[in-house]
Amino acid sequence: MKIHEYQAKQLLKGHGIPIQDGETVSAPGEAEAAVAQVEKSFGATQFVIKAQVHAGGRGKGGGVKFCPDRQSALDNIGKILGMTLVTPQTGPEGRLVRKVMVAQALDIAKEFYAAITLDRSKAMDLFMVSSEGGMEIEEVARRSPEKIVKEWIVPGFGLRSFQARNLAAAMGLEGAAATQAVAMFRKLYAFYRAYDCSIVEINPLVLTGQGELLALDAKINFDDNGLYLHPEVEAMRDLDEEDPSEVEAGKYHLNYIKLDGNVGCMVNGAGLAMATMDIIKQYGGAPANFLDVGGGANVETVKNGFRIILSDPNVKAVLINIFGGIVRCDRIANGIIEAVKELELNVPVVVRLAGTNADVAKELLANSGVAIISADSFEDAATKVVEAARGKG
Ligand code: GDP
Ligand code: MN
Repeated sequence: MKIHEYQAKQLLKGHGIPIQDGETVSAPGEAEAAVAQVEKSFGATQFVIKAQVHAGGRGKGGGVKFCPDRQSALDNIGKILGMTLVTPQTGPEGRLVRKVMVAQALDIAKEFYAAITLDRSKAMDLFMVSSEGGMEIEEVARRSPEKIVKEWIVPGFGLRSFQARNLAAAMGLEGAAATQAVAMFRKLYAFYRAYDCSIVEINPLVLTGQGELLALDAKINFDDNGLYLHPEVEAMRDLDEEDPSEVEAGKYHLNYIKLDGNVGCMVNGAGLAMATMDIIKQYGGAPANFLDVGGGANVETVKNGFRIILSDPNVKAVLINIFGGIVRCDRIANGIIEAVKELELNVPVVVRLAGTNADVAKELLANSGVAIISADSFEDAATKVVEAARGKG
């Protein structure tokens, strides 16, 4: 799960990590009061208006504006709130900005980068920093990866003092600034662990003209499997920022992930679902989604799955690939028949059923009168569905 910058900052602040603070505005009528509050709380005379969307690169897309005075802050809130922000991470369709943060503008002496994530290849958390933080960090990573300095954290030991000091030194910090960095890194790592984060990224981490080290931006992602342990984080979920079909699937406990292709997939079991996507690719197609309907699939599950797959306008054909182990194929067949009748299907559907009661299921489908392309094997199914999606089926 992702959260907004203002929420991430709220959490970090609560854990003693210094941040660039501010107020949020979700309607034009709140602008005056928010600016006044930032003036009052932080003695701010200059402001930064920041679009709150679950996508990075906001600065590049015009979603972060420096405002030298109160009027310019109000003007920019008016401009950014409600705009469709296009950044290198949103795709061309952009994101509607429903909230902005009014932050105190700070005098920045230097911008750094700091992030923690899991390095799966080493099975260890990775803490990385760079002295070249800011909006061009992707470019730094590409052109001069040696400028990103890494410390791997041995499970059970936590971030050790020498590692925190190495990171601060790698950023070129000395004296009081280095001391602040070491304290901040320890708190950041403790936070990352305690909240089951998958990413904590501070870009930029800044040193102000007054010698203060703080998080100017914050991006935090959480491991969904750990969310039930952190209800205060779960409460920060913003469904407006998530893919509507994924949100809908979540309501029915369906494991659905939207992808870019045109072959819709309904499969039982995550392993078979992965293999199905692979074979579609191998036969020259591209999956439109990952969908694991699970072991206990019934008529309702199949219907809901179908509806969600078909809500994607890219879908040109659907492949249903079911192995009846715990689930019985005849149940799935009944679900397919009901769904097809109910949903006014206008794309070809290829069905491959194997396992328990597969024969009964095939007969049900054959006698149902619904237009379904039956496949005998995995390969046969992939060939047929890729052809169907190309319009040759
Ligand atoms: P992102 O582009 O989505 O990562 O948004 P950021 O919050 O990182 O802001 C982008 C850039 O805006 C930062 O790298 C800073 O250079 C600049 N910026 C943000 N807040 C301030 C501020 O208070 N003062 C100054 N001088 N620059 C700021
Ligand atoms: Mn940033």
